[in-house]
Amino acid sequence: MVVRELQAPVGTGDAAGVSPEYVRISMASAIALRMHSGRFSRDFDFGGINVLLNYQEACRSDCGYCGLARERPGGHADRSFIRVEWPLVRTDELVTRLARFEPALTRLCISMVTHGLAYRDTCDITRRITARIGTPISVLVAPPTIKRERLENLKTLGVDMIGVGLDAVTEDLFWRIRTDVAAGGLSWDKYWEVIGDAREIFGPWKVNIHTLVGLGETDKDLLALFVALRDRQIFSYLFCFNPEPDSRLAAWPQPPLARWHRVQLARHLIEARGFGLEQFDFDDEGRIARIRAARSVLDAVVAEGTAFMTDGCPSGNGGPGCTRPYGSYRPAEPFRDYPFAPTPGDLEGIRRLLGLDDLIN
Ligand code: SF4
Repeated sequence: MVVRELQAPVGTGDAAGVSPEYVRISMASAIALRMHSGRFSRDFDFGGINVLLNYQEACRSDCGYCGLARERPGGHADRSFIRVEWPLVRTDELVTRLARFEPALTRLCISMVTHGLAYRDTCDITRRITARIGTPISVLVAPPTIKRERLENLKTLGVDMIGVGLDAVTEDLFWRIRTDVAAGGLSWDKYWEVIGDAREIFGPWKVNIHTLVGLGETDKDLLALFVALRDRQIFSYLFCFNPEPDSRLAAWPQPPLARWHRVQLARHLIEARGFGLEQFDFDDEGRIARIRAARSVLDAVVAEGTAFMTDGCPSGNGGPGCTRPYGSYRPAEPFRDYPFAPTPGDLEGIRRLLGLDDLIN
């Protein structure tokens, strides 16, 4: 899929379609705001709007799995991001749409990219939004562009939550996939400095870390991070690796659905049910081999379904806010996370893949 323009940039004063006058929005957001025709494969309420800064140079970082990486081949207008289309829209028209649809909105998110103007433009766009709309706002920050005072200023401007796309959950993977490349330069320590500052400034359960399953980490690596973040009252949100055409990891396989659902279940048990790492056994390759819990507890968690829904920033009333449909899979593929409560039929399929009989013996 490719990014497309909903309207051509008008005149040179519009700086050729770049932020802050223009932004990209996810295709799901464009459909929800009636800025693009289309339907979801199933009907569900959708009110989480994802906004992405846009520059001619895309992102100055060069992460191996990302469609916006600077060294990825292809023209700027042909880039996809997490494999979905991100139409280009005028910021002011978007804000007008947001105001019109405000009663249906649950969460707004501005995703920065690594670019010298990203912080300035994020502040500008945040101000335009908060002047007209009261929907809670998250910013998915680009740590190389961020320092403590900038986080404090984002809070002053009305930003409610901070996200950090750590993605690679171990320092070794972070180094190999995000840093040790021609235009890498991202620092694991800087990411954690920003996470710590954000936690102090925004408070408990107001910071989240995006984690990507399938980059080569073990289940044990993931679960250890989930526990550490939970203990600091920081959310961990799951994304499933979904290869971007032409990225350096384009040929890298997606993790099997069975592994993905087991990780979803474990993350939920840790974050929502207080499980510790000692309640999981792992095999020699770090895969979840056993969960130390009563079968009835696991059956109840699976039946409830929340563990398999998209974990994203909440709405103002604490319900689902950002649900990122198709963030981890293509529309034609089975859902990996559900932007709605999974149906009994969905849960039947998940139960089969989980193989709980093997996990509690
Ligand atoms: S979960 Fe959604 S709203 Fe929250 S930081 Fe991530 S993309 Fe933004």
